[in-house]
This record gives sequence, C-alpha cells and structure tokens, in this order.
Amino acid sequence: MSFKDFSLDPRLIGGIRRQGFEKPTPIQAQAIPVILKGRDLMAAAQTGSGKTVAFAVPSLQRLLQPARVAVRGPRLLVLTPTRELAQQVAGVFLDMGKFMKLRAVTLVGGASIEDQVRRLEEKHDLVVATPGRLLDHLEKGRVRFQRLEVFILDEADRMLDLGFIDDVKKIASFLPEERQTLLFSATLGGRVKRIADDILRDPDSIETGGPRERHQDISLVAYLAQTRDHKIALLAALLEKGKRSRTLVFVATKRTADYLARELSHHNLHCGVLHGDKTQGARNHTLRQLRSGSVRVVIATDVAARGLDVEGLDHVINFDLPQGGREYTHRIGRTGRAGKKGTATTLVEPKDTWRLERIEQSLKLKIRRAELSSVEPPPRRATKNRAASADRKS
Ligand code: AMP
Repeated sequence: MSFKDFSLDPRLIGGIRRQGFEKPTPIQAQAIPVILKGRDLMAAAQTGSGKTVAFAVPSLQRLLQPARVAVRGPRLLVLTPTRELAQQVAGVFLDMGKFMKLRAVTLVGGASIEDQVRRLEEKHDLVVATPGRLLDHLEKGRVRFQRLEVFILDEADRMLDLGFIDDVKKIASFLPEERQTLLFSATLGGRVKRIADDILRDPDSIETGGPRERHQDISLVAYLAQTRDHKIALLAALLEKGKRSRTLVFVATKRTADYLARELSHHNLHCGVLHGDKTQGARNHTLRQLRSGSVRVVIATDVAARGLDVEGLDHVINFDLPQGGREYTHRIGRTGRAGKKGTATTLVEPKDTWRLERIEQSLKLKIRRAELSSVEPPPRRATKNRAASADRKS
C-alpha cells in the first residue's frame, strides 16, 4: 500500500514525501479512507503509531476544497491534552501542508494571550489548542467556529485523565452541529466511549494492534535494585553505557526529577528536566535540546512527558514504577516509534516487584529480568535518604 492509493492532492503527497514517509502505517492505512469519506471516526491508536499524520492528511485534503460558508474563522480544530502535544501536532500539520497555504494558530496556556489574539484576528484555517486556553478565548468571543468543518480530539483518554471532560463538552457546544468529528485515544472503553457517544455521530471505529503487537519493536527489561541509592547507581551506569542514545527517564514527582538531575551531575551526566513547575519556555528549550542532541537524557514526570514525540528516542527508563499498565504503555510508547527499535528499562526495588508483576499481568506481556553485576548496591547512607525524604515532601 502507498500514500498514492488514497488519491490525495499532489501537494499533500509532496508534504508526505518531504518527511521521507514511504508507506502508510496501519492506523493511517485504515483511518485515512474513512476520514476522506467525511465520516466520524473513533480510533484506538497509541502515540508512535503515526496517528497525527492519520488525521492531519485527510483533514488537509478537505481544506483544499472551497469552504462551506464565506465567513472568517478556522475550518479545522484539534484539541490536545497538553501544550507540548499541541505544538507538536501543529508542527505535523504545517509539515504535511508545506505545499499549500496553511495558516495555523496554536492556543495553549503559558503563552502570550495578546499574541494569540493578534493571530486570531488574522486569516487562519487551523486551530490547535488545549481546552483551558481555548475556552478562555471562546468565552470572550475571540474565536468563532461558524466555518468549522472538522473537530479532532487527540489523546482523548489523556484529556479525560486530566479532568478536561466538562471543558471538552463545553467546547463541542460552541461548534456547528454539521461537522466531522474524529476522536483518537490509546483506549476506547469506558469514559472515552461515553464522551464519544456525546459528541460523535454514528462513528466508524478502528483499532490497530493489541498491546503485544504494539510493543514488538521495544525490548522490555527490568533491573532489580536493593535500595533507592542502588537504583541511582544503576541508572548512572545504564546512562554511561548508552552514552550515544537519547533517553527519557520517568520519575513519580517533580522533586525526584530535580533530585535525580543533581545526583547524576555528580556522575558527570548532564540531564534536562521536564516537570510542571518549569515554565513553558524552559520546557520548550529542554525539548529542543533533546531533539538537537545537545542533551541526551531528560528526566520527566508523566504529566510533562505526555504526548512527547522526539525523533529517535532510543531508551525509556522507569526510575519510578508507573501506576499501572496504561501508564506503562504510555511511557514506553515514547520509544520504538514508527518501526524503529527501542528499549524500555524499569528499575525495581524489592518492595515494588508486585507492581511490576501486576503490570505484566494486565498487559499480558513478559518483562525480562536482568542484572548489572558490575553495579554493587552502595552502602546505606548515614544521613536520611535524601531521595526518599524529597519524595515525602512532594
Ligand atoms: P504519532 O503517532 O503521530 O505520534 O507519530 C509517531 C512518529 O511516526 C512521528 O515521529 C512521525 O514522524 C512518524 N511517522 C508518521 N507516519 C509515518 C510513516 N508513514 N512512516 C514512517 N514514520 C511515520
């Protein structure tokens, strides 16, 4: 199968080719024809599956047709749970729409309202937004959706996890009834299904790959550590060993993130840090450093890492265990993307092995146990374990 099979406009084919994409990923192969037909769609797709291109390309094809009504305002709206994801999604649209005149406005918190108002006053076709900031603009009448044709909810499950359900419903109430709605989510059950029932009309449904299939390009491994300090020593050794790889390290709290960055600097390992207390500017800077390779290791909390897409991330390390199977899947989905190989390492203290086993059971997969015999558990510190105390404070 090739992108040519979708009878896309040559300008879009040009945009796709420029990215070096040779053939559609499974989600693209299934979703693009449905979206081109104008149908509503709910699709189960992980980050890393190529889902953004799957909704961007057919929506852009629609923009190449004349608008239904001759008023101002966007014809496409994408809602994402986080600022970083919004920026990423807008970037994909601009890449795909490189050879058409696409004008996009990104509306996210942490960025200047005045700039956004100015951009909204100019001509634009696409708005990519996080719910809070979009509602702010909507309620003040700064953005109007009379011309809207396609509404896309990206990472709907995350949106609900972050408590945006009422905001999403409210935003939907500002949109024309006559529209196409596309919902992408890692899972389609429970609450996601209910919101889909509310805002989609007779949707087609697509699911690509079970958990096993989704993880086939990622090698899963767990190292047992005696103590938290042993975990730090193991982490330092793994980062040292994989000096050339780009690594995202997950921690449970902001304090652990800062603490770990300090500890690793004692091992001459310079790491970027992403968490909710960092300003948007600082987060963007860290992401740029990771993308450019000037920083190879970033330590992040789950919220800060949501929806991150960094080309060529080779390694994800769970310094702290994820809450459960779903969080595990989201974390490790940062690597092994679009057919590339990746490694997902989990560091486990004896008190946490039951949680690792629960994750394996819920996802029906086996995580290989390994040892790094060269890294002995460090002697227990005489003073109170600083990492543990940092955690308690957060
Ligand atoms: P996403 O699931 O949208 O987060 O995309 C994950 C990654 O897949 C991104 O880095 C895209 O650049 C890449 N990608 C998207 N479509 C393709 C394709 N058809 N072939 C190869 N890589 C792709």
